[in-house]
Amino acid sequence: MRIGREPAGMIIDARNSAVELTRDADFVIAGAGVAGISLALELAGKYSVILLESGGIEPEQDTQSLYDGKSSGLNYSLLGSRLRFLGGTSNHWGGWCGKLDDIDFEARDWVPHSGWPITSADLEPFHQRTADILDLGSGNFDTDTMVPPENHAFRISGTRLTQRVMRFSNPVTRMGEKYRPALENTAGLTVLLNANLVDLKLHEDGKKLESALVRTLNGRSGQITAKHFILASGGIENARLLLSCRSQMTQGLGNEKGLVGRFFMEHPHVTAAEMFALDENWCQGQMALRRDDDHWFGLMVAPSKKSLSEQRCLNFRGHIFNIECQSDDPIELRVMMEQAPNPDSRVRLTSTLDALGLPRIDLNWQLTALDWHGIQCMGRLVGEALGARSLGRVKLRDWVMEQDGRRIGFGSHHMGTTRMADDPAAGVVDRNCRVFGTSNLFVAGSSVFATGGAINPTFTLTALALRLAEHLTGLVR
Ligand SMILES: Cc1cc2nc3c(=O)[nH]c(=O)nc-3n(C[C@H](O)[C@H](O)[C@H](O)COP(=O)(O)OP(=O)(O)OC[C@H]3O[C@@H](n4cnc5c(N)ncnc54)[C@H](O)[C@@H]3O)c2cc1C
Repeated sequence: MRIGREPAGMIIDARNSAVELTRDADFVIAGAGVAGISLALELAGKYSVILLESGGIEPEQDTQSLYDGKSSGLNYSLLGSRLRFLGGTSNHWGGWCGKLDDIDFEARDWVPHSGWPITSADLEPFHQRTADILDLGSGNFDTDTMVPPENHAFRISGTRLTQRVMRFSNPVTRMGEKYRPALENTAGLTVLLNANLVDLKLHEDGKKLESALVRTLNGRSGQITAKHFILASGGIENARLLLSCRSQMTQGLGNEKGLVGRFFMEHPHVTAAEMFALDENWCQGQMALRRDDDHWFGLMVAPSKKSLSEQRCLNFRGHIFNIECQSDDPIELRVMMEQAPNPDSRVRLTSTLDALGLPRIDLNWQLTALDWHGIQCMGRLVGEALGARSLGRVKLRDWVMEQDGRRIGFGSHHMGTTRMADDPAAGVVDRNCRVFGTSNLFVAGSSVFATGGAINPTFTLTALALRLAEHLTGLVR
């Protein structure tokens, strides 16, 4: 058996017959998107790392179609919400970034299955580095230190609402493009393009992973051995891969409790209400972008922690665009909602196979009565706050009261399918993102989120990848 280890970094095409696919490394990472590239670059230089990427430098139809599947729940686009080539879905993300609120990590008695095993403070040390990776300028999201109270865009102090800072990636970070030189030149790192992870092989102890089976669409394959394996293939695909590894465990890897693929969460995007501004100056101040050195940030309205617990609401972020204030039409209140964790909202394997022989998935995205309560609660809190200041009036749309799921949008934010917990009966990975029941298999990405808050997930998933890199560094000496 020939073992390949490149001394210098390099990017090579696994479809090329001259490329040896039987290799060995300290770490194998599957997926070169935001999480996988961030993690690989933290580990490389110190260790040998093989980064497997299903796609190439540019998108290709046959590779992208490996993501196709069925959507049996609320309307969802499996193909349109992710990209399968170097850089992953960052190739068309919008660059909106924010930090989860402290309460998002806490167990709330009105939100079943809520509560992370880690807190907001556990991710704080990784915020500035995350901001550097994603070109945000600063990792500071503290509204009070960034914007003096007299300049707050929403004149809502004293109400049940508060404000949250959003930062914008600028220029919008395309991970494959931006980090290609680093991927090519970091010692010990090998990026295998067009290399799909299709199976993971366990040692006979049933806990330790020994190798990863890699397959290309032109029929090549290889077995890569490593000390540690990390899935970083996106919030839906991480679950699909665990469920598909059935050659030794009939129920899939890490799935003894049947939890892999469950708790799929999105951020329901709703233009749920019409607003009638009574004070034009107030309206003009909304979502005005501000500059912080060379970077842009904006302010969004959110419920205060106290009002969330008093009203037993789900979290949300709302905004309106300035441009709408200039029209005579009602202004649209655009809101990103938290979705409550729900075991029946899930990813499952089907009997249809893709071109590599992996089962395609059925995504059954579902909302519960608690999610609809959250949307109505949002309308009430925003309406009360604006009404109390005679700034405007809010009218919830009829479809919200009728709970018409066809009107719900989504953010292409895939969370929860390999959720984090301290108890294997409640989750798929532990607080260090290790898959329960295995000793050396880890997951990176928003599939580990226990709850999703009401903020775009990429900032948090990148911070988690950096935290995972620190943990893994402690394991391999
Ligand atoms: C239109 C759009 C706009 C968005 N805007 C925002 C935004 O403004 N803010 C925000 O926070 N988020 C946004 N998102 C979501 C954001 O893109 C994702 O959160 C982020 O890309 C997830 O990172 P990831 O590394 O987990 O997955 P990805 O970036 O999707 O990367 C996964 C990688 O794994 C590879 N892969 C898959 N299967 C395999 C396999 N079997 N073997 C090897 N490799 C594999 C894929 O090719 C891909 O490169 C947006 C998404 C979309 C679609």
